[in-house]
Amino acid sequence: MAEAIEIVVVGGGVIGTSIAFHLARLGVTNVTLIERGAIAGGASGQSGALVRSHYPDSPEAQVAWAAVPWFEEWAERVGGDCGFRQTGFLQLVHKVDKDLLEKNVARLQAIGVETQLVTAADARRLQPGLAIEDDEYAAYEQRSGYADPVATAQGFAAAAQRLGADIRTGESVRNLIADGTQVTGVVTSSGSLHAGVVILANGSWSAALARTVGVEIPIELVRGQAAIVSRPPTLPGVNGHLAIIDRRSGIYARPSGEHATLVGLSRGSTGTPLTSAEGVTPDRDFPETARAHLARTLPGFSDSTVQSAQAGPLDMTPDRCCVLGKPDGVSGLALAVGMSGSGFKKSPAIGACMAELIVNGKAETAPIDAFRLERFSTGSEIQKFEYLVGDSTDRGSFIH
Ligand SMILES: Cc1cc2nc3c(=O)[nH]c(=O)nc-3n(C[C@H](O)[C@H](O)[C@H](O)COP(=O)(O)OP(=O)(O)OC[C@H]3O[C@@H](n4cnc5c(N)ncnc54)[C@H](O)[C@@H]3O)c2cc1C
Repeated sequence: MAEAIEIVVVGGGVIGTSIAFHLARLGVTNVTLIERGAIAGGASGQSGALVRSHYPDSPEAQVAWAAVPWFEEWAERVGGDCGFRQTGFLQLVHKVDKDLLEKNVARLQAIGVETQLVTAADARRLQPGLAIEDDEYAAYEQRSGYADPVATAQGFAAAAQRLGADIRTGESVRNLIADGTQVTGVVTSSGSLHAGVVILANGSWSAALARTVGVEIPIELVRGQAAIVSRPPTLPGVNGHLAIIDRRSGIYARPSGEHATLVGLSRGSTGTPLTSAEGVTPDRDFPETARAHLARTLPGFSDSTVQSAQAGPLDMTPDRCCVLGKPDGVSGLALAVGMSGSGFKKSPAIGACMAELIVNGKAETAPIDAFRLERFSTGSEIQKFEYLVGDSTDRGSFIH
């Protein structure tokens, strides 16, 4: 006999756990989350977990900005501690992109993001030791920073459970069950569940599962990786420096504990393409390359050493934006996948939007219509105004 469940969420990363939490918060009493391994065992557990709103397109910026209060008020809203550190965030670009930066800051301000253009002198004051020439500019966000991705997903899962959700780990969804174009449940490694709605939040593994009911999600797998390097004693503590994205050197970075820094490259992979989402490991040359690039932004890292490296699969879509909503042509199915290397910071707002969509018929926390799957077949992909990265003339192919 199949169990009858109101809503099944597939995947226990930051996205699935956030959705389960928000559904339970909105009063859905019969929510079951199914995770084949452990909570945060996929990309979420390996995340750099930067929290910032500087995006080159408004739809992403609106979702990222709507997530900030959740990190700030985590203890009251979710409970416990998600490790959020409000270091502030600095976005640096090549001189040639100064006008684009200025335009982006104005666009972000117009949609409510608290950000400002700062001079090189201001940037040096905000970030001691920063390599920046007198005629360069940066964008600054005071309310941004970073969090602990595992604590975030576990916090959502625990809060969902307290509100009555059933969080099942070590159970795998094998396929979706459909009656014609109506999805009616899932078959798992332990049996089958009937559900009114099935929400896929299983990231790099979602395209294969969606295909079992004829839904095609264009996802390309990319190796996401980050290195942990020792931090100069001049930048001590968990708030030891700002969260930084520097398009000049092609890095993103934030403190990692008291004495180290997490650094990744805007280009993600340094070589080998990813053919499977299983057992993803860092490229051999990645950590030292990332450290050397970081030293261009903060020369104090010239003498630092690599401590470790981490990697996970990124589910990249053609326009590098996520897929949210109910796909056309099938009912009983919703998608929150294709996070394209930047799902962590948006997870509190994506969970809220998906729960609102399911419960109230419309997302209220932020507009999500632009993220519909159908944009790829109707020529309405999300347009971005990207900065140059590193020494290349390419504006499009990077991920962070
Ligand atoms: C190195 C690195 C750095 C990053 N840095 C940042 C950053 O600074 N800021 C940011 O915002 N984002 C960052 N990201 C991206 C961010 O971490 C991801 O976008 C986000 O974690 C995706 O969450 P998710 O829940 O969609 O996917 P996942 O965390 O991958 O979760 C999907 C889950 O589904 C489960 N699953 C799969 N198939 C099944 C099945 N059939 N049945 C049951 N369960 C299943 C998996 O086990 C997995 O736990 C980074 C990612 C990496 C790897």
